[in-house]
Amino acid sequence: MNASVNTKPRGRQFFNNPGPTNIPDRILRAMDRPVMDFMAPEFLEIQRACMAGVKRVLKTDQTLFAHASTGHGAWEAAVANLFSPGDTVLVVETGYFSLSWKEMAETLGIKVETVAADWRKGVDIAKVAERLSQDKAHEIKAILAVHNETATGLVLPLPEIRRALDDAKHPALLLSDTISSLGSMEYKMDAWGIDVTIGGSQKGLMLPTGMAITGVSAKAMEASRKSKLPKYYFSWELMEARKPQRFIGTVPVHFFFGLQESLKMLEEEGLDSVFARHARLAEATRAAVRAWGADGKGPTLYGQTPDRLSNSVTTVLMPEGVSSDGMRKAALERFNLSLGGGLGPLMGKVFRIGHMGDLNEPMLLGCLATTELAMKTAGVPFCPGGVDAAIQSLAG
Ligand SMILES: *Cc1c(COP(=O)(O)O)cnc(C)c1O
Repeated sequence: MNASVNTKPRGRQFFNNPGPTNIPDRILRAMDRPVMDFMAPEFLEIQRACMAGVKRVLKTDQTLFAHASTGHGAWEAAVANLFSPGDTVLVVETGYFSLSWKEMAETLGIKVETVAADWRKGVDIAKVAERLSQDKAHEIKAILAVHNETATGLVLPLPEIRRALDDAKHPALLLSDTISSLGSMEYKMDAWGIDVTIGGSQKGLMLPTGMAITGVSAKAMEASRKSKLPKYYFSWELMEARKPQRFIGTVPVHFFFGLQESLKMLEEEGLDSVFARHARLAEATRAAVRAWGADGKGPTLYGQTPDRLSNSVTTVLMPEGVSSDGMRKAALERFNLSLGGGLGPLMGKVFRIGHMGDLNEPMLLGCLATTELAMKTAGVPFCPGGVDAAIQSLAG
């Protein structure tokens, strides 16, 4: 017999990245069909129904655009369509993604002010309110906020930002990135007074990467007509003019085949049940992490504000001096479990468990058990009992 053992991972990969996420078989099958002319009435009806469905998920009755791009494209579209060179916007710091959006806005010629925050605790809304009330001349044209900061696993309470704007009687637009909360956590664009909502296909919508959606309020549409930043592919005005398909270039028809199925899945389960499932799975994940760190020597929850912890991603802080690289490598290469790493300054210091999109109890328990296995293999100190704590949480 050959003494060498083939350690190539077998079986289905457990995919717990916080994006992209698992694409359900139903969606893969829905996309497995021949292409269609994007101007054919049959396709236009599919597209119309999908756009109406996404509005139900965003809880908006206003304008919706879809771009063949990642979420970054929709970020760029929002900036390019709303502002003119030299305009000032206020970025609410939440973590890596908020700072990337800031960098993009600056690169496009916008002045950016930041409300700084402790990444582990989340921003103090009073600081946002204070800055707004100081801005008597209304130089701040918009607030850019990430609803669910995927790097830190903390949620930003958008209704409180809205209240800060209203209390200061400040006319700034409120832009929000819901890329990693859309379809996994509650989001109410119109009720929360959001002017621009940016979402992506590859997270809670359970689709491949490559389609971004943008909800735009009437107030933001009005502001966009005065914007002077250059744009063409991302121009909302040009898109509106290209009726009926509303795309610059070829419409990605297969995305709509997938989106049609995704919306069907979300609505069969019911959005509130989808959110409740994510809350349950997130709480079980947190129970496991708390157990791992119970003696103060193991990994712990990165987020320190309990009522802001995300229900779609959990960021886990490694013990001091222990890198997350080894355990993530073991998880992926030996056990076929894909976990998220740390972004920017958190690289190596944390790992992230994505629990958004198409996920159930056995998938999560498999992930948590295998995370323990990977930590043991890589020599990461942790208290046993994480999986038991997750089971207790799920059973209770
Ligand atoms: C994933 C993610 C992005 C980036 O989206 P892309 O589709 O990769 O461009 C931006 N913001 C948040 C909060 C995300 O989770």
